[in-house]
Amino acid sequence: MKENSYLLPLYKRLDLGFVKGKKSVLFDENEKDYIDFASGVGVNSLGYANKKVLKTINKQAKRVLHTSNIYHIKPQEKCAKRIVNLSGFDMKCFFCNSGAEANESAIKLARKYGNTAFETPKYKIITIKNSFHGRTIATLKATAQEDKHKYFAPFPEGFVYANDIKEAISLIDDSTVAVMLELIQGEGGIFMQDVLLVKELEKVLKEKKLLLIIDEVQTGVYRSGEFLISQHFGIKPDIVTLAKGLASGIPIGVMMTSLKDVFTFGDHGSTFGGNFLSTATCNKVLKILEKYSDSGKLKQNIKFFDDYLAFFINKYPNLFLQKNGFGFMQGLVLKDEKKLNEIINSSLKNGLLVLKSGKNIIRFLPPIIISKKEMIKGFNRFEEVLENLI
Ligand SMILES: *Cc1c(COP(=O)(O)O)cnc(C)c1O
Repeated sequence: MKENSYLLPLYKRLDLGFVKGKKSVLFDENEKDYIDFASGVGVNSLGYANKKVLKTINKQAKRVLHTSNIYHIKPQEKCAKRIVNLSGFDMKCFFCNSGAEANESAIKLARKYGNTAFETPKYKIITIKNSFHGRTIATLKATAQEDKHKYFAPFPEGFVYANDIKEAISLIDDSTVAVMLELIQGEGGIFMQDVLLVKELEKVLKEKKLLLIIDEVQTGVYRSGEFLISQHFGIKPDIVTLAKGLASGIPIGVMMTSLKDVFTFGDHGSTFGGNFLSTATCNKVLKILEKYSDSGKLKQNIKFFDDYLAFFINKYPNLFLQKNGFGFMQGLVLKDEKKLNEIINSSLKNGLLVLKSGKNIIRFLPPIIISKKEMIKGFNRFEEVLENLI
């Protein structure tokens, strides 16, 4: 397929497009099916064409899509309550439309807190090497990958990069207000942070009344088996950001925080954020996922998925070093990074969608509701690809 002449050439697109999907399978225009271990980069938590979600979208579309936040929005209120209850945290929500916006909101909130809660203002936010927090000017600067900053200076000041959590702790000084991190780095190699180190960081920050911001844009919404991976880590962040899986394909982001009184009227906002369509959909998606998780099926299926990946590590020790990540967010680490594109392209030809992360990692982000049957089909196709490779 040719690059479209009306679109800016920002994406390195694969030579393929889809026309429809069902559950965890996508179809191209020739009706060829693809098992989806990518879920639109962690977005399509319920896969495709979920009947209950379609009904909600239809019903809401017939009534009202958008009114703006000048007025009360019932689904937004219900959705906030649901998200807060699922998190188990004593927090309030702000709705926006993407992960970057959610992180931008977190940064603004931390800045206001730093400028108002202390005698001498604090503003620095420490982030971790290989992180990914978004593509707006501030969230790009928060992303500690300096090669991505090259053409876009000058940036807002106040972002400090640490190689790891230990270094983040050591970099905290009088002008630091927050540390922001992903508990599993999505774009940066499916690297999972150490639970004890994260808890130590949490303790140090709490003692100094500084903020722990957890970017759960990719790890959130049951990808770890829990609603938030923060719950799995047993931590209580001050700010959590969510987006990707929240509404299974309708754009939405959330910044939730225990700092309920820092933002006041006019400090922040969004035109589209939290509108009827996105929050009604999100509400339904979360209701379905909660039920699914409560049934025990999610954890069983994650175990099945996990065992399958472990099987590949054992069967192909010459190809793979190890597996990274947790739950339905995992990566197989290749010994030879040159094989990455070949595996992804051969998988595609064989009817399987997988992603990359970092330079040498095959990333798996299936829909949360993927069935055992679909997993078996997908992994069989993956095995055929590997057999042809060695
Ligand atoms: C995808 C992602 C973002 C950015 O989200 P957008 O919706 O693309 O703005 C931010 N943080 C993490 C961890 C992500 O995975």
